[in-house]
Amino acid sequence: MAGGLISFDEGITQSPCRACSAPCCRVLMMPMKSPATLMDIDYVRYMLNFPSIEVAVTRSGEWKSVVYDTCRHFDQEQHRCGVHGTTEQPLTCSYYNEYRCSYKALMLAPDPPEAYFLNSENFPIWAQELKFNDDGEIVAAPNFERAKELLPRNGSRLSAPGIR
Ligand code: SF4
Ligand code: SF4
Repeated sequence: MAGGLISFDEGITQSPCRACSAPCCRVLMMPMKSPATLMDIDYVRYMLNFPSIEVAVTRSGEWKSVVYDTCRHFDQEQHRCGVHGTTEQPLTCSYYNEYRCSYKALMLAPDPPEAYFLNSENFPIWAQELKFNDDGEIVAAPNFERAKELLPRNGSRLSAPGIR
């Protein structure tokens, strides 16, 4: 990601994707249901047993599964989409609004202020603060600030060379 300041003219002519390490092509982020029950939490625990998966929870309460894998169309040498502008490029990619890119915000900062990340290592720390009723429904869980405090992000799979 470019770190310098740019002029207005540059801003209206240059894509925000310039010099970006393209986490959008190297990480799959999928919305998931916010857990409401003990079994939902157990499903998160199950997912986190897969080494390439984390779960991101945003400040606004969205849950996303995060899969660290690279799209087969990503050209590692040219560092760009290998099917850009062709019919092989999914419309999901062609119509993605890079001016409102959530990948950049969530994936490029070492500890993004707008999300916390659950993984197999920190899950037990977070889960120990959950409380359930007799029906297995969650009745207490760490709020966003508490979760950030519990789960400092001090390195992740995205620390792998090439992403940041
Ligand atoms: S869409 Fe976002 S993550 Fe992808 S290259 Fe552009 S700025 Fe980077
Ligand atoms: S098709 Fe192209 S733009 Fe879409 S994820 Fe794959 S490499 Fe990235």
